[in-house]
Amino acid sequence: MIQMAKSTAKLDSSPATVRQRIRRRSDLPKGESLCDHCTAKCCHYFALPIDEPVSRKDFDFIRWYLLHDRASVFVDEETWYLLVHTTCKHLQADNRCGIYETRPQICREYTTDDCEFDDDWCYERYFETPEQIDEYADALFGPQFEQVGLRKQDMIRSRRPTGLPVV
Ligand code: SF4
Ligand code: SF4
Repeated sequence: MIQMAKSTAKLDSSPATVRQRIRRRSDLPKGESLCDHCTAKCCHYFALPIDEPVSRKDFDFIRWYLLHDRASVFVDEETWYLLVHTTCKHLQADNRCGIYETRPQICREYTTDDCEFDDDWCYERYFETPEQIDEYADALFGPQFEQVGLRKQDMIRSRRPTGLPVV
C-alpha cells in the first residue's frame, strides 16, 4: 500500500529477479529499502473491518460477499475483515506508486515494519468461497436450505435480483 522508502532507481521487477534478490527481510543489506525488493504486495488488495456475524442472516451477507470475484473474508484477533484482492489503479509496471506525492494518508502511514513482504501470516479463520462460509454457518445454525433433492449449485444460487443490493 505504501512505498515510502522507494528510491528513484529503476527496479527490475520481474518476479524471478525479485525472488532472487531478497527473500526475507532479514536478508536486506543495511541501508536498503525493503520496498525496492518487493512486488508491491500491499498495493494489490484492500481490507475493511466488518461486523462480526452473529446470525444466520449475517452469515448470508458474507456468503454474498464471497459470491463475488476476488473477495475473501478473514478473522484476525477476533475482528472480521472483508478482503478484496484488487490492484491499485496507480500502481505502475515497475511496482512504484504513480501518485507518490498525493498518495492517500493510509499509504503514507503504512510502513515496512510489519508489512507483508515476507509474510507467513496465518489467520484464525479464512474464507475464500461461499461454500466455506456456508459450511461454517451450517455448523453453528444447521443447514440454511432444504437439502433433499437440491443440487449443490442450487443451494448457493441467489434469487433473481430486484435492484442493486445495498448493505
Ligand atoms: S496510491 Fe500508491 S502507495 Fe497507495 S495503494 Fe496505490 S500505488 Fe500503492
Ligand atoms: S509490502 Fe512492504 S515491502 Fe512491499 S511495497 Fe508494501 S510496504 Fe514495501
